[in-house]
Amino acid sequence: MIVACTRGKPEAKPAARNVLLITIDTLRADHVGAYGWSRARTSTLDGIAKNGTVFEHAYAAAPITLTSHATLLTGRYPPGHGARDNGLRISPDVPTLATELHAKGFATAAFIAAFPLDHQFGLNRGFDVYGDRLPRGADGRLANERPAADVVNDAISWLRQNVARPFFLWVHLFEPHAPYGDPSNGSRPALERYDDEIAIADREAGRLIGALGPAAAGTLVVAAGDHGEAFGEHEEYGHSIFVYDTTLRVPLVMSGPGIPAGTRVSEAVTLADVAPTVMRALGLPMTKVDGIDLSPALFRTPLPQRELYAESFAPLGAAARRARGRMEADCVSEGRAVRRPDGSGRTEQRHRVAARRRAPADASRRSVLGRLAQRERRCARWRSRRTSPRSRL
Ligand SMILES: [Zn+2]
Repeated sequence: MIVACTRGKPEAKPAARNVLLITIDTLRADHVGAYGWSRARTSTLDGIAKNGTVFEHAYAAAPITLTSHATLLTGRYPPGHGARDNGLRISPDVPTLATELHAKGFATAAFIAAFPLDHQFGLNRGFDVYGDRLPRGADGRLANERPAADVVNDAISWLRQNVARPFFLWVHLFEPHAPYGDPSNGSRPALERYDDEIAIADREAGRLIGALGPAAAGTLVVAAGDHGEAFGEHEEYGHSIFVYDTTLRVPLVMSGPGIPAGTRVSEAVTLADVAPTVMRALGLPMTKVDGIDLSPALFRTPLPQRELYAESFAPLGAAARRARGRMEADCVSEGRAVRRPDGSGRTEQRHRVAARRRAPADASRRSVLGRLAQRERRCARWRSRRTSPRSRL
C-alpha cells in the first residue's frame, strides 16, 4: 500500500501503469458473491474484491447500456455526454478515458460484445483498436451480441502485442443480458439461467486477467456492471425504464497498485466516478466531470457530501419498434433518481404513452395498440404508488 500524507489526509500515490476495465452487462450487484449472493459463481469478481476495494453502493447513471457506459468512460452524467439513450451518439467533443489516455501515449483498445456499443455511437473515439465486429447468423443477419470467449480471445491477442507499452484496455461482456442462456432450456427458472450467464462472464473475465501475466503488477483492474436487471420488481422485467435500485445498483470493484486489499466502501458512489478515479490512479487529471476521484475512500477518508443523479430516457422500445412503419408511436419514459450520500433518496417516474394510427387496421396494429394501452394503465398505477414505501429507491 502506498500512501502519501498531504495536509494530514492520506491519499493514493499514482502507482498504476496500465488500466484494464471490464464491464459486465446487466449485472446486478446482489448476484455477485462479494455483495452477498450465496449462490454466486463469481470467483473473479470476488477475487478483485478480496485483493482490492468493493464499492458496496455503486449506481449506474442510467439503466441502459450505451448511456451508462458513456457516463463510465466520460465521468459525466447523461446530459453532459449526450448519449441519453441507446441509438443516440455521444457528443463528439466530450473527452473520454480513451481520448485522454491515447493523447498521453497509451496503447488503447476496446473489445465489445453487443450492438448498443457499436462504433457508430461514438465510444470508439480514442481507441487504437475498437473490436465491435459481430458474427452473422445462419440467416445472414448480424447478431446483436457475441460470446464472452470470443471477446476475450480478441482482447488477449491484442494484449500480447501491446503489453510492452502503458495500455488502456476495455472489455465488455454481454452474457447476463436477456435472453438468459439457451432459450430452449426455459424450464429452468430465469434467475438460475441469469446466474449461469454471470458465471460464464466471470470465468472469461478471469481468463483475461490471467493473461496479464507479469503486467498484472502494474495494472489497475476495474470491474463494473453497466446496470442491473428487473425480475418483476416494480412490475418491470429487463431494464431501461425505471430508476430503482433494481436496475441501477451495480457491482464496482477495483484492485491493483496503490489499492489497499480488503477495503469496503459503504458510501454511495456513481459510475461517473470511475473515470476521474482511474485518471487519478495514473497520476493524470480529468477535468469537467460530474464524478469525483474516489481514492480518498480507499483510505477511509470520507467522500464529499453530495447527491448522485440517474435518469431514464428510454422509449418503451419494443412497442415503439414494432409500431414503426405502421403508425406513429410516441412512447417515452423519463425518470430521475437523486440519491443522498447514505444511499437513500427519491425517485421520480414520469410516463407518456401515445400512439396515433396511420395505417389501415390489422392484427399487428391492434396488438401494438393493446400493448400500449396496457403500458399506459400500468404507468398510471405506478404513478399512483409513487409515494408509497415500495416505490422508494
Ligand atoms: Zn447494458
